Amino acid sequence: MKSGVVALVGRPNVGKSTFLNAVLQEEISIVTPKAQTTRDQVRGICTESRGQIVFVDTPGIHRAREGGINAYMIQEVERALDEPDLVLYLVDPFSKPEAEERVLEQLRQVRSRLILVVNKADLRVKRPDAFEWLQGWVQKVRESLISSRLEFIGHHEISAEKGSGVAELVTEVFGLLPEGAPLYDDSDSLTDRSLRFVVSELIRKQLFMNLGDELPYSCAVEIESYREKSKPVHIAALIHVERESQKGMVIGAGGKKIKEIGSKARAEVEALVGERVFLELRVKVSEDWTSRARKMEGLGYVLERNRK
Ligand code: GDP
Ligand code: MG
Repeated sequence: MKSGVVALVGRPNVGKSTFLNAVLQEEISIVTPKAQTTRDQVRGICTESRGQIVFVDTPGIHRAREGGINAYMIQEVERALDEPDLVLYLVDPFSKPEAEERVLEQLRQVRSRLILVVNKADLRVKRPDAFEWLQGWVQKVRESLISSRLEFIGHHEISAEKGSGVAELVTEVFGLLPEGAPLYDDSDSLTDRSLRFVVSELIRKQLFMNLGDELPYSCAVEIESYREKSKPVHIAALIHVERESQKGMVIGAGGKKIKEIGSKARAEVEALVGERVFLELRVKVSEDWTSRARKMEGLGYVLERNRK
């Protein structure tokens, strides 16, 4: 049996979470059209007769202002790159070599093996020109890694959204992993994260989908109570925002916005748990939570250097 940890890395929005969900055929890690949706390291566990792959989804590698929630996201990437058995480095045709340099800089420090994955291959039909830079660039990456601790294995082109190339890539990954016992015993669970976490993420996804540009980045979701024995299942969640003015925007005129967010999130949560759900949402101001370590910790975003 094969067993190992595979880190999914790349710039924001290249499709890392989409890929994870495609492999597991379940929305384990939320996907939205906006960059920087993923905040935490999320593990997706793929258990088969061939063995077990533990995929580690990460926030995108980016240059960000220092401290606060950005520091947390960068820490989550670094944790994922701590000795994985394999790295899948995802790129998409909308990136460019300069933008990828930041990712490569970080990857050169990692001792592992790497497969370069060109995602969004479905766009080739409409935008063949957008893919032109990639061919030469893949060759450059291969050369630039020769003197690093990261062994370049090869590259794949896939469409995580349409599913093409995904099975072939998973087969290659299994081939490269060492023999070993599975890291997670329970072959039914698809993630290391609790149901509570996944539910809070599904709510956060609807905040990204339904609120204006910057607002979702100021939101965090806390599950206050989760009563699975009641019928329907009763879940109460608190949406934290940073300022009073944001509270009104999340609630919307006459409560219209939060109703919409709640009903879409409820539908997704019901699909996940396979039961009827009553979802109660409230909004609370936690002033400047994205920049205050103590408040971040209360919301589950713990910076290691503050961990005792
Ligand atoms: P992440 O930030 O790397 O985790 O990226 P996401 O998985 O959140 O995806 C970012 C955006 O790219 C979303 O709008 C996805 O629907 C889109 N996307 C992901 N994979 C594909 C793909 O294979 N083809 C196309 N056309 N879009 C994709
Ligand atoms: Mg993501």
